[in-house]
Amino acid sequence: MKKSALTLLAGLGLACSAQAATYIHAGKLITAKNDKLLTEMTVIVEGNQITNVMEGYIQPGAEDTLVDLKDSTLMPGLMDMHTHISSQQGPGAYMERFTLNEADYALKGVHYAGKTLDAGFTTIRNLGDSHNESVALRKAIEQGLVKGPRIYTAAKTIATTGGHGDPTNGRAKAIMGDPGPNEGVVNGVAEARQAVRQRYKDGADLIKITATGGVLSVAKSGQNPQFMEDELKAIVDTARDYGMTVAVHAHGKEGMKRAIEAGVTSIEHGTYMDKEVINLMKKHGTYYVPTVLAGNWVAEKAKIDGFFPELVRPKAAAIGPLIQETFARAYKAGVKIAFGTDSGVSAHGDNGQEFVLMVEAGMPAIEAIRAATYHGAKLLNIEDQLGTVEAGKLADLVAVPGNPIEDISRMNQINFVMKDGQVYKNL
Ligand SMILES: [Zn+2]
Repeated sequence: MKKSALTLLAGLGLACSAQAATYIHAGKLITAKNDKLLTEMTVIVEGNQITNVMEGYIQPGAEDTLVDLKDSTLMPGLMDMHTHISSQQGPGAYMERFTLNEADYALKGVHYAGKTLDAGFTTIRNLGDSHNESVALRKAIEQGLVKGPRIYTAAKTIATTGGHGDPTNGRAKAIMGDPGPNEGVVNGVAEARQAVRQRYKDGADLIKITATGGVLSVAKSGQNPQFMEDELKAIVDTARDYGMTVAVHAHGKEGMKRAIEAGVTSIEHGTYMDKEVINLMKKHGTYYVPTVLAGNWVAEKAKIDGFFPELVRPKAAAIGPLIQETFARAYKAGVKIAFGTDSGVSAHGDNGQEFVLMVEAGMPAIEAIRAATYHGAKLLNIEDQLGTVEAGKLADLVAVPGNPIEDISRMNQINFVMKDGQVYKNL
């Protein structure tokens, strides 16, 4: 009896999904498989999958849904490989660590996740939170409780004592404490391994470390190396054992070199990357995630009196403006590039502005879009499921009005968002 009821339900489910498909008429289509821009195409979605990509405007059946995007350009759901989804910089943000609780960060994350999805970003890598709240957010989104992108999170960043990402930097001694691997602060090989294993236990998908100083931490150097070679190797080897990749914040050359040689997966920011580092990245197949938007943002804010603590201000003014030029050199030299904004520094939802800065630096618009689709999926090792528009892939699709190849600022005007076959926006 029980078995036949189940069989009946399964049969009904199958019948439903076979009947109702969504036919999307795309005036232009970027599949991101290559650098072509196709015209007058139909993309057919059934359930959460793309089942067909056809030339011309194919008419749907009576049970099917038609989405008319004849005046738009359809493309894969966008992927931002560097976000901080549960926080956002602003005047006074430095006080938040003393005034906010875990629930505050979690609820901010809900709000920012919605803004990110609305901006066409259906997948993000979250590179650092405060209390593992991005793991909880990922679960809530997966369960359909919250609207947001697919999240691949590093949870709390791993740093060294006093390094970029030590959460107690700049505090009075009485409230400084002595954070350890559990809080993401390590010294030596054993603690490095422990911190990676703790992230795994906490539900993180990947590891983020801060291989050099950073702009926004309350510390003097924005570029000194902060991990030793043996610590880096311990992190990469342990992460590999747990099926995790390693994303590396780095501005200075020496820290980048050590990290790349240890076998990390991606370099974030990469400000003082020179020819030697570029060649090392090409040799090791290391991805570069530029975050030009964050560089521009901190450089702008450094001009405002009192916006940053005085220890931070000169770093923001010096490092910020250099990233766009570094990106231009890395792209010309043939380094693999995946799109990332460091949103949470700049405002969530403004992610698309990175495309404008990439094109301004000399990258063709189609390549910038492929960096945010095809290459994002490659970096996440999910290219069998996402990153291009083709039959058999998950139905993450977005559109912009007009033609973003002619006007890249269109990427800031997302008018259609579908994630996992479900429409979240259709203007
Ligand atoms: Zn960041």
